[in-house]
Amino acid sequence: MAKYITRPQGTEDITPSRIHKWHTVEKVTKEVAESFGFSEIRIPTFETTELFQRSVGETTDVVQKEMYSVIARETQFTLRPEGTAGTIRSMLQNGLLAEALPQKVFYQLSCFRHERPQAGRLREFHQFGVEMAGSASPYADAEIILLAKTVLDRLGLKGIQLNINSIGCPQCRAKYQAALKAYFEPHREELCETCQERLERNPMRLLDCKSPEDQAIAKDAPIILDYLCEECSTHFETLQKTLKEMQVEYAINPKIVRGLDYYTKTVFEFITTDIGAQGTVCGGGRYDGLIEQLGGQKVPALGFGMGLERLILTMESQNCEFLSQKKCEVYIAPMDDAARPTALRFVNALREMGVCAEFDLMDRSFKSQMKYANKLGAKYLVVLGSNELEQGEGQLKNMETGEQKSIRLDSADHFCEDYSDISIGDMFQPKL
Ligand code: ATP
Ligand code: MG
Repeated sequence: MAKYITRPQGTEDITPSRIHKWHTVEKVTKEVAESFGFSEIRIPTFETTELFQRSVGETTDVVQKEMYSVIARETQFTLRPEGTAGTIRSMLQNGLLAEALPQKVFYQLSCFRHERPQAGRLREFHQFGVEMAGSASPYADAEIILLAKTVLDRLGLKGIQLNINSIGCPQCRAKYQAALKAYFEPHREELCETCQERLERNPMRLLDCKSPEDQAIAKDAPIILDYLCEECSTHFETLQKTLKEMQVEYAINPKIVRGLDYYTKTVFEFITTDIGAQGTVCGGGRYDGLIEQLGGQKVPALGFGMGLERLILTMESQNCEFLSQKKCEVYIAPMDDAARPTALRFVNALREMGVCAEFDLMDRSFKSQMKYANKLGAKYLVVLGSNELEQGEGQLKNMETGEQKSIRLDSADHFCEDYSDISIGDMFQPKL
């Protein structure tokens, strides 16, 4: 037999036994985003490579090392490594920024990055993200942080720490970059090759390097908060005041610079210690220069991305509740071929009412049908034999309790009516 082909490294199959976990995070993130007035946007899986070079930044890990790019028919395309660039491109292309501001959108999408696969770090992963365009107010920063926090709370997650920082605007950053350069210069030879180059082009990126040696060197580097201009400083203070008013706990971490170049002013991360080294479940911030950089007008904007795999891993480690798995509600077992047409009519009548109903498609013996119904975890079982059909009456068996109740079999309408009465009755039965 030929060997089957395996999935590429760093990708995952989400099989039916786990899909309810995805449905849980997809449902909650969508509901929370909509309750904050965000509408869903769907964008292409790939974009022209130039879009990411111009937005994410030429000196970032993402662009330098992690993009999946191809040349197809003489154009360079890249599988999206994140959702912000494509979303802003789409807002510009579809004229959304000419409509009432702020524009508020959310998405659930897959992202692709060529990284070393490990727990919580995949080559294809999924993000829930939001983007808000048009507001320069620190209240908007607080609003999206609150949105992310509401999602985490609604999923039942505990102990996820919010870290915030401000990385200033191009004015404050120029002075800071100069100070960083002076700090790292004496260590030039000890830095990794990528960072030696970054030292010239964008010293702040050194703070984001994952190499332990570089991190050790960066330990005592100057911090951006000492270089903020008055406007950036006031913005950061108002954000903190607002977070306190909303009783959102946070810590200031001056080391957060975020892995993408487009950020300005506020940056933040939600971090858990429950899933090992890859503990950032959500990262985001303000990117006031990005829209202009992508050819639009000067419109301030902000957003975040939340990794759904890491979210689910954390929920599992904290034993959070997920939506229950969808299961067969009624299994109808014909005892012989003569009963099959009736079984088929009844399952279809149940399905029309929105009930999940199944019957034998494998020509199984009656006994193995019983076994199969058990395996499915069917809630109810109906046996259709010639006696039952002649009498126009059978039994609906509750597989959890073993209790049997009589159900009419003389027509599909009667069958469905009785089924509704019994199942509703069962729902309200007090538990002993
Ligand atoms: P990290 O520092 O962990 O590499 P990042 O700064 O590259 O994260 P962002 O670009 O801000 O991450 O993406 C937002 C979120 O998407 C992250 O906080 C994380 O939850 C998730 N994420 C990023 N990269 C991956 C990946 N390779 N696999 C799984 N989830 C990821
Ligand atoms: Mg990364």
